[in-house]
Amino acid sequence: MAREIIDKCNRCGSVRGATNHWWMLTPAAGGGVTIHQFDEEVLGTSTEIYCGESCLLARVSEIISVSRRPASVAA
Ligand SMILES: [Zn+2]
Repeated sequence: MAREIIDKCNRCGSVRGATNHWWMLTPAAGGGVTIHQFDEEVLGTSTEIYCGESCLLARVSEIISVSRRPASVAA
């Protein structure tokens, strides 16, 4: 069955073109993430994809700030 999923940036919603250099984030052990260059072979259901440096770094900084914040702190 042909893959008909359109790759969209998880942050800004841009659609990936064939020649774009995109990035992938996959969950890693210990609550971290692994950053890969986009590779369709590695795409999984928990993979997030980003269209470029600014979207990727915005997401990484989000992950870092969330994991630094103690879960029990009330606002
Ligand atoms: Zn983007």
